[in-house]
Amino acid sequence: MDFELSPQQAEFRDLIREFARRSIAPVAREWELSGRYPAEIVDEMKKMGLFGVLVPDEYGGSAVDAVSYAIVFEEISKAWMGIAGILGSHSLATWMLARYGTPGQRRRWLPGLATGEHRSGIALTEPGAGSDLQGISTVARREGADYIVNGAKTWITNARHADLLPVLVKTDARAEPRHRGMSLLMIEAGTLGFSVGKDLDKLGYKGTESAEVFFTDCRVPVENLLGGEEGRGLQQALSALEFGRVNIAGRAVGVAQACLDRALDYARQRQAFGRPIADFQAIQLKLADMATEVQAARLLTWWAAAALDAGKRADLETGMAKLYASEICIKASLEAMRIHGGYGYSTEYDVERFYRDAPLMAIGEGTNDILRTVIARRLYRAHDEES
Ligand SMILES: Cc1cc2nc3c(=O)[nH]c(=O)nc-3n(C[C@H](O)[C@H](O)[C@H](O)COP(=O)(O)OP(=O)(O)OC[C@H]3O[C@@H](n4cnc5c(N)ncnc54)[C@H](O)[C@@H]3O)c2cc1C
Repeated sequence: MDFELSPQQAEFRDLIREFARRSIAPVAREWELSGRYPAEIVDEMKKMGLFGVLVPDEYGGSAVDAVSYAIVFEEISKAWMGIAGILGSHSLATWMLARYGTPGQRRRWLPGLATGEHRSGIALTEPGAGSDLQGISTVARREGADYIVNGAKTWITNARHADLLPVLVKTDARAEPRHRGMSLLMIEAGTLGFSVGKDLDKLGYKGTESAEVFFTDCRVPVENLLGGEEGRGLQQALSALEFGRVNIAGRAVGVAQACLDRALDYARQRQAFGRPIADFQAIQLKLADMATEVQAARLLTWWAAAALDAGKRADLETGMAKLYASEICIKASLEAMRIHGGYGYSTEYDVERFYRDAPLMAIGEGTNDILRTVIARRLYRAHDEES
């Protein structure tokens, strides 16, 4: 058992860390507060090949292991979590195409997505259905060589910048069980009847847009059905989310680590009652808990990622990692704010942004309560098998 990164993983981490330190950290506060789109950072991520981290070599990607994948999100989120959002659902779309796409679909879309010349996201959530994806109402009706898609999606990250979106639809709205009637259609920007609505105002997670998407008699060729077979969409989407949870866990570890780093710095330089506040035991208790929880979350994330790399079913592991890391991240952001006193509430200090960014990780890619139900189901099954 080895709790350290391999030399290659450590080298990769250092590369991403240096990029985040040099190109993201210096602009994060100002660009986040102004709502500016980080186009220059996106261009640099393209040059670094970060849009292709889950694309196989043969299509121009680097197909990194899941531990390295989690590290990309930790390092970027230490500087600015919103930037991680630009890569997160894009890379899951590439993962789904690589895993479930037909050879023709992989050849057609993966090379452009690997370089970042083309961008993507994932469109699952609807105004009336998020956790209960089987309750979606976007319908794709077959008409000759096309599907006619009608419906709406919401909260779609990268929607405005996506050239291609995997969209969860019902190809058979009467199917029982309902998931047998669900499919993913790859819908290209510019397709008649496909439009992006307004960007949603949000607490944090700025930098990347979250938008509504509408389909009105949108005609999509049958060859855009992911994998070429109807009825597979929900399973394809859920397995992508299972993988994606290590990206959310990685982001949570990154934000929590940044909270700890800022709190350590501040505690040592802020004076009260004639000495640094770091001398007070009440502050030390907070710092010690934060450091312990951040490291536990990191190891849980690497453990879950290693289970994915071993090709195992890992919904328990990735669920636990995302659940724990996001909860300790929320706690760390609040503790860092307390340690900063009144300044923690000021936009002059990064901990204010960390506090606004932290709750997203408890919502995205499965709310924490939904994950608790997934974990409990796996526990029951394991218990039954043992007894
Ligand atoms: C900033 C942001 C970006 C996002 N990006 C994307 C994206 O790119 N693509 C995309 O498809 N979606 C995206 N989402 C949507 C996100 O995945 C959903 O918000 C999330 O899955 C929860 O769905 P919901 O909002 O409909 O909440 P609901 O499903 O309505 O849940 C409301 C509450 O009820 C609880 N609940 C529901 N069912 C159960 C149950 N069975 N047991 C216990 N508790 C339950 C939930 O835990 C939650 O607390 C994004 C959301 C945000 C905020």
